[in-house]
Amino acid sequence: MKCAAVVLFLLPAALMAQDANSSNFHIHGVGRLELTFTENEFALALEVPGADIVGFEHAAENEDDRSQVADAISDLSKPLTLFELPPEAGCVTASANVVLVGDAFGQADTSDNGAAEHNEFHADYVMQCEDMAALTKIRFAFFERFTEARHLTVQLTSPEGTLDVLVEREMSVLTLPK
Ligand SMILES: [Zn+2]
Repeated sequence: MKCAAVVLFLLPAALMAQDANSSNFHIHGVGRLELTFTENEFALALEVPGADIVGFEHAAENEDDRSQVADAISDLSKPLTLFELPPEAGCVTASANVVLVGDAFGQADTSDNGAAEHNEFHADYVMQCEDMAALTKIRFAFFERFTEARHLTVQLTSPEGTLDVLVEREMSVLTLPK
């Protein structure tokens, strides 16, 4: 899934347009976050519609569009400012990779069957923590930074199993199960 997204990012715009047209890509306002916990680190995989992040999904057409995209990628590259963790857990960002999947960096191309009308920001992070037991909650400052985002469907995976939860703008603190 993640590999496929990266591959698509590298394909010519025409192929990406086909992909966007052939799938109901996403619902605006609703992003997805997968959290995978291991012994002393956890991974986050975030997928959010461009509409939620920068307010548009067309190809960046002018300097203002391009700077909004660049600012968003810069902010998405700092996960600890978006997903606030208890300081006592002592977590640091081991890796952060952000890509825009879709057509937004290409030239505007609406000549063939509407081109790509959707794009998504995808971000993958690995966080390393000194004390995973102190990792009791996550506060989603994400919703303060990205004001068009309404929900994140969150899937928590640990050796104990998998749990699906919805985190909303109005209830933006996720209490992690023990
Ligand atoms: Zn869209």
